[in-house]
Amino acid sequence: MSINDFEIHKVIGRGKFAKVLLCIQKSTGTAYAIKVLHKTAEDQCDPQTESNILRSIVHPFIVGLHYAFQSPERLYLVMEYVNGGELYFHICNFGRFSEDRVRFYAAEIFLAIECLHGKGIAYRDLKLENILLAKDGHVKITDFGLSKQEEESDDSSTVSLVGTLEYLAPEVICGLENSFGADWWAFGVVIFEMLCGYHPFYSDDREQIRYNILHSVVEYPDHCSPESKDIISRFLQRNPSLRLGASAADGLEIRSHPFFSSIDFTKLFNKEILPPFRPELDNDLDVRFFDEMFTEEPTVLTPTESAADLGGNEVAGFSFHGKG
Ligand code: ATP
Repeated sequence: MSINDFEIHKVIGRGKFAKVLLCIQKSTGTAYAIKVLHKTAEDQCDPQTESNILRSIVHPFIVGLHYAFQSPERLYLVMEYVNGGELYFHICNFGRFSEDRVRFYAAEIFLAIECLHGKGIAYRDLKLENILLAKDGHVKITDFGLSKQEEESDDSSTVSLVGTLEYLAPEVICGLENSFGADWWAFGVVIFEMLCGYHPFYSDDREQIRYNILHSVVEYPDHCSPESKDIISRFLQRNPSLRLGASAADGLEIRSHPFFSSIDFTKLFNKEILPPFRPELDNDLDVRFFDEMFTEEPTVLTPTESAADLGGNEVAGFSFHGKG
């Protein structure tokens, strides 16, 4: 299999390490999202690890990998095309979500992260841009480029500093050992953003964001319920050993929080709960939920395309939150 087996329809995404294309498989007419990674891209991101992790997981709320192949310069990951767009797109264009809608997405995201942690995988890049909405209204997490399979022998922790600044846990910023708890911190940031429509540590100055993450007190708008404030503040606990999810049975502690009391997690996993919103789409090739800054890009893969051409906004090992 090669990229020549596909017709490139649109560019739908671009990150620090990769470009994502909406492609049609010529032999079947099926639409796929193909992530094109340059093999010489940042060493922070190991394309092979992403492929291995995706291969090892089948989960209703994690994007599915159908094929992977390579050329001398690039690795291609052929994923299911999730066409409802990023949660980031929905919040930027349509505003914050109701608390019930936040609860639904948060519960699905939780199940995905719980599954990863159960397999010893720290996700390390949870953010609104990596949470996609499928056409049936359920979420799908994508982008395992920074994920790490924790070794049992290394006490399940690492000191590497990767991720997107706005979602980094204090222990990551401080260069301390960090592991699964950093995902739960980012989860708290994501719940806050969905509920409030802005970032809890927002500033247009990156140093100030770092400062805010390490020191500032999070303030909640009046519309937040006591349960939502409580769960967010427990995830945004700066001491990782006291953070919600820190215990060995992290999933149990989170499932039983009052914020999720109305959720039946078995039904949720089986997609037996009706999603609160279903993206309206004309057909499988409808890209209305993707930013025009991508979909209007030319759809050619030039042979001279360099790693730098594939990359997005990069500063000191971080990718910017937001797309301009
Ligand atoms: P980052 O800089 O965040 O690490 P990246 O280079 O690893 O990004 P991805 O995050 O994997 O790239 O993909 C970039 C964007 O492409 C995503 O934010 C999303 O909008 C889109 N995308 C990724 N996978 C899919 C998919 N399976 N279906 C639809 N869109 C997708």
